[in-house]
Amino acid sequence: MCGQLSVAVTGEPSGVYACSCKSCQRGSGSVFSYAAVYPISAMSVSGEHKAYRYTSDSGRWVEGHFCPTCGANVFSLLEIQPDDVAIAVGCFADASFAPPSILCWASRRHEWLKVPGSTQLLDTQPE
Ligand SMILES: [Zn+2]
Ligand SMILES: [Zn+2]
Repeated sequence: MCGQLSVAVTGEPSGVYACSCKSCQRGSGSVFSYAAVYPISAMSVSGEHKAYRYTSDSGRWVEGHFCPTCGANVFSLLEIQPDDVAIAVGCFADASFAPPSILCWASRRHEWLKVPGSTQLLDTQPE
């Protein structure tokens, strides 16, 4: 958001998903997170970032990396996918970005939240 921290990726994401778990709701300040997954090797980071590790609703850790200047949440590392990085789609500021193929924790979404017919609803999250 402020430009201090930026990430660049090459190639296409291996997956695009949204998540309505309570951690994503609280951490984003919105009612779902929306992230694109890339191999860590496809990402380069410039600028300072801080990390906050928490236990997700699945019981595994997630480490959110954010800009210490403006607080923008930029990318996350996930215990369940050690070779990948999940980048917050909002950071691309690209309204044509692919929609989520999966909504995780759909069981916890706000009732008004509708998703495209192509988006698979999971009550929890992939194992
Ligand atoms: Zn979540
Ligand atoms: Zn910033």
